[in-house]
Amino acid sequence: MSEATISTPDTEMSTDSVVSVRNVHVEFPTPVGVVNALNGVSFDVPRGKVLGIVGESGCGKSVTARAILRIIEKPGRIVSGDILFRPRRRRSGGSRPSPAAGASGQVDNDADSSEIVDLTSLDPGSPEIRSIRGQEISMIFQEPMTSLNPVYTIGNQIEEAVLLHQTSDRSEAQKKAVEILRRVGMPNPDRIAQSYPHQLSGGMRQRAMIAMALSCTPTLLIADEPTTALDVTTEAQILELMRELQESFGMSIMFITHSMGVVAQLCDEVVVMYLGRVVERAPVDDLFHDPKHPYTVSLLRSIPRIGVNRGAQLEVIKGSVPDPYSKVPGCPFHPRCPSAMPGLCDTVLPEETAIADKTDHSVRCHLYPGSTPAEVASATTAK
Ligand code: SF4
Repeated sequence: MSEATISTPDTEMSTDSVVSVRNVHVEFPTPVGVVNALNGVSFDVPRGKVLGIVGESGCGKSVTARAILRIIEKPGRIVSGDILFRPRRRRSGGSRPSPAAGASGQVDNDADSSEIVDLTSLDPGSPEIRSIRGQEISMIFQEPMTSLNPVYTIGNQIEEAVLLHQTSDRSEAQKKAVEILRRVGMPNPDRIAQSYPHQLSGGMRQRAMIAMALSCTPTLLIADEPTTALDVTTEAQILELMRELQESFGMSIMFITHSMGVVAQLCDEVVVMYLGRVVERAPVDDLFHDPKHPYTVSLLRSIPRIGVNRGAQLEVIKGSVPDPYSKVPGCPFHPRCPSAMPGLCDTVLPEETAIADKTDHSVRCHLYPGSTPAEVASATTAK
């Protein structure tokens, strides 16, 4: 991994990354206690690649995505940490949109930007963040019907994003809407543009959502389990489409999923999360062929494989994710971990450690205390 960096008085960030999430803590104060949804999450989203965020429900995947877009619902709030973002387009007037840009934050689309914005410093309702949402960072949700407005046509809804960020010419926006529907493989895009969401199938609605998200050619597309509600055939088509569009648009994708199968099919790099923490980061091949964290190993063992161990019971991860109000001491995975070391894992929170000399593979587990491969092997064998 190249490590060229650009520095500003406040920030430093690899030029290979579009977003750098740094030690972010998010909490939800409730009448019965505080839920710590993110407990120091750190990772980079690589430029022009697909980063998978994987983990069970409640591990903080979606909260991380919402923190990046600054759309965490109240009473949730970012308590500390930084989320650095490097826009692809230079916003008029430097770090803030110029008055001429107005609330829409019009940008110089052809410029490369060395500007770095700390998204946590922006007011969630400010023109600055609204100029980034939809244009620089788009999001696709799991269920399109919760995001598509049922009383507007698909074409109207795509045009709205184009009119907000790209042009004030309605006929040009209409042409762009039809064109982007064609790009996402919609049959008869002119007719689809005139259709209402309820007139489309689940797969076509998801394609419409992808079209809307891509209408402003974002730098980063966040996809929050966009294929979970689809049948396997449609899921495969949507994944193929996303890979194809990612390559042709040259954008980064942050793909949130609980499916290791989807990760294998789509992602270049993977972040594994558990209870609001990143427990392992690695290139996808390393993660599948040489997983380190016991949680990752368990996730991979729980994937059904055709023809393997026929008749045998599928492995499961024992226990369940603790309730969100409980504070687990030590390693948060220790109550479920087959390798847990009493007296250490249940009292001391492991630090993130790079695996041997691999700078792109790290793990948060006491089995790997700055280890060499030999030490890791003996630690694992001893269990
Ligand atoms: Fe298991 Fe201990 Fe590693 Fe946690 S730190 S994953 S409990 S071995």
